[in-house]
Amino acid sequence: MNTRLMTIETPIDIDSVQNYIDGEWRAPNGTDGQDIVNPATEETIAHTDFSASSDVDEAVAAGYDAFEGWREVPVEQRIQPLFRLKQLLEDHQDEIAKLLVKEHGKTFQEAKGELRRGIENVEVACGIPSLMQAGHLPNAAPEIDETAVRKPLGVFTAITPFNFPGMIPLWFLPYAVATGNAFILKPSERDPLTAQYLFALVEEAGFPDGILQLVNGSKETVNTLLEHDDIAGVSFVGSTPVAKYVYETAAANGKRVQAQGGAKNHIVVAESANLDFAAEQTIGSAFANTGQRCLANPVAVVVDEVYDDFAERVVENAANMTVADGLADDSEMGPLITQEQQERVEGYIQEGIEDGADILLDGRELETPDTGNFLRPTIFGNVDSEMSIAREEIFGPVLALIRADDFEDALRIINRSRFGNAASLFTDRGSDARKFRHTVDAGNLGVNTGTAAPMAFFHFGGWKDSFFGDLHAQGEDMIHFYTDKAIYIERWPDE
Ligand code: NAD
Repeated sequence: MNTRLMTIETPIDIDSVQNYIDGEWRAPNGTDGQDIVNPATEETIAHTDFSASSDVDEAVAAGYDAFEGWREVPVEQRIQPLFRLKQLLEDHQDEIAKLLVKEHGKTFQEAKGELRRGIENVEVACGIPSLMQAGHLPNAAPEIDETAVRKPLGVFTAITPFNFPGMIPLWFLPYAVATGNAFILKPSERDPLTAQYLFALVEEAGFPDGILQLVNGSKETVNTLLEHDDIAGVSFVGSTPVAKYVYETAAANGKRVQAQGGAKNHIVVAESANLDFAAEQTIGSAFANTGQRCLANPVAVVVDEVYDDFAERVVENAANMTVADGLADDSEMGPLITQEQQERVEGYIQEGIEDGADILLDGRELETPDTGNFLRPTIFGNVDSEMSIAREEIFGPVLALIRADDFEDALRIINRSRFGNAASLFTDRGSDARKFRHTVDAGNLGVNTGTAAPMAFFHFGGWKDSFFGDLHAQGEDMIHFYTDKAIYIERWPDE
């Protein structure tokens, strides 16, 4: 156990965020920075300085040097530190989850759930010796054998959002290094402590210096990464305007890029649905992580016949949720990430009322804890699909119910959205499910499940304004993103 890790085991002791460059913890050299505030208690728990461009240059140079040796390490040896990282993540998951709750606000169970999804990606990347194989055909032509191979490309970076600070870095990091690349993480400046912990475990797992690095900062740090000549590729997860900007800038600088953006997902409740189950799942989908999820379904499109019964059920379930500090045993929903975000969400609620939607549950008026960015679940009924509360990503605990004439009308409403991250259907009829799967333009489609979140061995990504690029995160797409293909065509005639 190294000293850094021993310090990090007491989360509150991380008072200032460090970069991890070339196997060393170093203070960022930029002039800007910000405090990390516990969104439930409003206490300042740490401070992050942002990196200067010289910090990024050092990390990229160290990554490039390390890559030259790492690509030559046999694949079976490359995955050994990943096995160790998986075990360290398992062993430390409670401490990481506690830290995550303190800086992000979600409930302890949600934090543990997100870490589980992250660990799954480490497990999948440990299978790289099989996943990276590309094919061989003897006698493809007379005396000619052909072999397809995948080769690593250099130094990759991922720029990640605040809402899953433990899971999203792990959508990328394990695959990048297992395929033989070096990797630099730029986590969200709003909750960078979880990444500090993750990198303490990376250090403990014993990757060669420079192979996995952490650079803290904000948009200036991102720009330096996007423009750096020695960055081979960029993964981004965040809001749609920044995703589009990152996609365009990285591509203009000759890099591979995949950029996941925002979302506004829909649940369809068909006439034959089990309404109790659909209501329970809708609540889970709309309000888990306090609505701060790209896979949340904050719009339920309900066919007219069952609309009233469904609305009654969701309002009753949501009104009973326990909203409290995510570390409280009974907490079912934590605070929003910042006060600014709380005000933004409340602004949308006001707009919904002014636009004429029925407010069935007003989270602003119900009792919340005394400190923190708390807002209780809010539900609007009879929402028109053109209202801002139905169209725009609010990223808070606000559910809009739209009344559809029938099932076909519901599908039309979904497909008019500019986003296409996910959608779910509740039904008892196979023909509805089949039509839904065929018709809806979104990357993650769920039937009788409120949140269509794929396991790590499947790709994950959206369509339309929810995604810019080609290859998605997780699973086999990551192998393709982190490698380029080559063909060896060989003739060895008998002498
Ligand atoms: P964000 O776009 O504000 O920030 C994401 C990252 O980009 C951060 O690391 C941040 O430092 C950086 N950044 C912010 N502004 C920048 C700028 N102008 N130039 C360059 N870099 C910049 O996103 P967020 O608020 O942290 O995260 C929430 C958003 O992420 C939501 O829109 C959510 O839907 C989306 N998200 C999408 C997925 C997905 O898979 N599609 C998953 C999780 C979150």
